[in-house]
Amino acid sequence: MLAIQLPARLVVRSITSFSSTSTTAATATTLQEIAATRKGLAKVVLKKGKTQIFRDGSPMVYSGAVDRIIGRPPPKTGDIVLVADGLEKPIGWGLYNSVSMFCVRLMQLEEEATRDLNCALDMEKLLETRFDAAIELRRSLGLPSVDTTAYRLINSEVDIYFICRLSGLIIDVFGDVAVVASSAAWVEQYKSEIELHIRTMKNIKHIKWRPSIDILKEEGLDITDQTDSDSSMLSEVKVIENGICYNVSLAGQKTGFYADQRENRRLISLISKGQKVLDVFCYSGGFALNAAKGGAEYVIGIDSSSPALELAEENVRLNKFNPEKISFMRKDATEFMKEAASRQKVWDIVILDPPKLAPRRKVLQNASGMYRNLNSLAMKITKKGGLLMTCSCSGAITQSGTFLRILQGAASLAGRKITILRQAGAACDHPIDPSYPEGAYLTNYLLRVL
Ligand code: SAH
Repeated sequence: MLAIQLPARLVVRSITSFSSTSTTAATATTLQEIAATRKGLAKVVLKKGKTQIFRDGSPMVYSGAVDRIIGRPPPKTGDIVLVADGLEKPIGWGLYNSVSMFCVRLMQLEEEATRDLNCALDMEKLLETRFDAAIELRRSLGLPSVDTTAYRLINSEVDIYFICRLSGLIIDVFGDVAVVASSAAWVEQYKSEIELHIRTMKNIKHIKWRPSIDILKEEGLDITDQTDSDSSMLSEVKVIENGICYNVSLAGQKTGFYADQRENRRLISLISKGQKVLDVFCYSGGFALNAAKGGAEYVIGIDSSSPALELAEENVRLNKFNPEKISFMRKDATEFMKEAASRQKVWDIVILDPPKLAPRRKVLQNASGMYRNLNSLAMKITKKGGLLMTCSCSGAITQSGTFLRILQGAASLAGRKITILRQAGAACDHPIDPSYPEGAYLTNYLLRVL
């Protein structure tokens, strides 16, 4: 399904890049041989039986998977290391971090390195190749366009296209601004190279760096008083998505705009004509604005953040939508839905897009309960036969494959029945495709609630 949308060269590489049956793997050139010419390259040896997850594409090697590290002196944070199976045979290479719970971020697997020797054990070259691939790929998907100037260029390890995976790095493009969200030490280490590659994009005039300070602390980096290399003091930028204008606050949540919801928002604009729509966890109004554009009878957006709602209201003005048809309310989502349910208030379409409730696997059970309760409330206030678009941006939930079960639990709690009209992953940045591989952050269901 993906293949239709991509240039042939990219398709072949993205589908085969993590195959463990590479035909060239047995040829003379292997990471081991290249490494032999490099002095002092350490080897991180994984425990027996711990390699498959990395061969399957997960790039984050957690310390618990490591059996031993071969190399004197031991590697330092930022060093290139080989990652090997229990028999010391390399499965790939990556960047080492002596402090982080992810002691290596894999950059290339053995098979990929064999196919593309240019990048083997060479971070600068790898970055160049990954950036070229990302730019070409987004362009081939029609991004940017007259209708959409906000899109994700690099999507960390969850990019469904292996060819542009760079674990710990997210880059969103908003018009002529590139926002870089860094959550790995290596990203800060290669800051100037990353900026150099971004500057090869003709449209980009500003680069805003948004380091995740707390996560970087866990990576051993304290960057609290780092200054931005962009001196423009730019704090906002106007973008278009699906033909709707947004003011993006460059100090706003995450990168400032949830670019991954584009395709789901578009769907809402297509089905909202004449409908009463409720957008719960609305942030800057993305879904609500699409519903208004699609001719909704009335839309209301709920969020607990005042700055988010100020943006949402500004966006209504920017698009000259009738303020009598779209409004926003600052409220806790649970409180609002409970109150509405107690008054038997219902909407034709409800959108539920909570923040990441399961930031890590450890809290999965607790988060599952929260998702169930929120969804149950959302179902209660969806008209019989109405639609609920429900999202989870928790990678841990997506990977556990339990979201649908949670939704079924929510339905029985609400005393309702649900049928799935559509299941989809994110648009980061790719066409919606139900066969998206495990690992993408976002799961999205469009349900009919009976
Ligand atoms: N749907 C949005 C993105 C939502 S992100 C879009 O398309 O852009 C999650 C939102 O939930 C954030 O805006 C955050 O402010 C809001 N939020 C977090 N906790 C909340 C709560 N308890 N009640 C209401 N909103 C909350």
